[in-house]
Amino acid sequence: MTASGVIDRAGLDELIAALRNGGYTTIGPTIREGAIVYNEISGTSDLPVGWTDQQAPGGYRLEHLGDGRMFGYVVGPQSWKRFLYPQRNVIWSGVVTADGWETVTPPEPPTYAFIGVRGCELAAIAVQDRVFLAAGDRAADPSYAARREGAFIVAVNCADPGANCFCTSMGTGPVAGPGHDLVLTETVTDDGVVLLAESGSARGDALLASLAAMRPAEIADRERAAETMAAAQATVPHSMDTTDIHDLLLGNLEHPHWEAVAARCLGCANCTMVCPTCFCGTVTDELELDGGGARRVRSWDSCFTLEFSYIHGGSIRQAGSARYRQWLTHKLASWFDQFGTSGCVGCGRCITWCPVGIDLTAEVAAIRASDLRPAVPVAADGTEVNL
Ligand code: SF4
Ligand code: SF4
Repeated sequence: MTASGVIDRAGLDELIAALRNGGYTTIGPTIREGAIVYNEISGTSDLPVGWTDQQAPGGYRLEHLGDGRMFGYVVGPQSWKRFLYPQRNVIWSGVVTADGWETVTPPEPPTYAFIGVRGCELAAIAVQDRVFLAAGDRAADPSYAARREGAFIVAVNCADPGANCFCTSMGTGPVAGPGHDLVLTETVTDDGVVLLAESGSARGDALLASLAAMRPAEIADRERAAETMAAAQATVPHSMDTTDIHDLLLGNLEHPHWEAVAARCLGCANCTMVCPTCFCGTVTDELELDGGGARRVRSWDSCFTLEFSYIHGGSIRQAGSARYRQWLTHKLASWFDQFGTSGCVGCGRCITWCPVGIDLTAEVAAIRASDLRPAVPVAADGTEVNL
């Protein structure tokens, strides 16, 4: 039986304090420079209480509603990969000693508690788990594994999906799926804002059991939460037809639409930086100017840069159309071949943060509308005919 109960803002403060007292570094949504970004928080006063976000292709704006809700917005430009797969990560360093070299042991990463993880973001973490954790004959990435192991996840069901969200098309939201320790559903009552808290793990059970400020969930609490999420599910505004998408994209590699997108694309790489699943990186070696040490650093890179595809003699993806095609076909097609899942979770970030408002759902629709694959002959009984 899943533990559950109802807390208010004071209860969430108690929950965050309990996590901090338990040794977790608590990370959650905050407002910085006009956007909702993830940073360390020590209580609900750090959350964007009463704020919401307005999103459009190439557009993002915060708006103050003053409604007291703590999670009345969706996802901003950052994702949790900022903490699990940092933008710059020293993977080895050493110092010169009298005897040669000595490797410097890196500090242990913090044990994170993530507060406010949306359904699409839970799915994105699961996608990166497939990339970075051990599976089959693939070894784990030790840096990612150390950060991921032990991370406590407090998910939040999205009551107000954003204008660019298409989680329902990708099966990732707005109700958070598995992979969390707790999930919160925020609703507004005559008595103020309350959160239905439901556990998803033994750790979540134990945390809820420790909260003095929690009261048992009544039928009315559950009905209100269910109605809120049913309404949210029905109002996810954006969508993408994913039927046959793997074969559709890989069967249209020479489609002229790639050139049409490239005519608008600036090659800025914003879409890959904000994407919660993109994982491409580059490795550089840095030497101390005084010759006393060196380090090897891994940092985010992007398939939109010319250098990313540089091999002997030059870059293999010279044209913008080739780079956009690489990104989209990897995300929505060859990712399935590599990792058995889509590389897109429908969060909409790449649409919002593209400076020219390129919308991958529209690009897929355009290719679908003029599919150039040869038609497969079909027999009278509907089966495909092998010629
Ligand atoms: S491709 Fe775009 S919509 Fe899909 S997960 Fe990445 S940022 Fe989100
Ligand atoms: S964010 Fe937009 S303009 Fe920039 S590389 Fe991506 S698709 Fe092109």
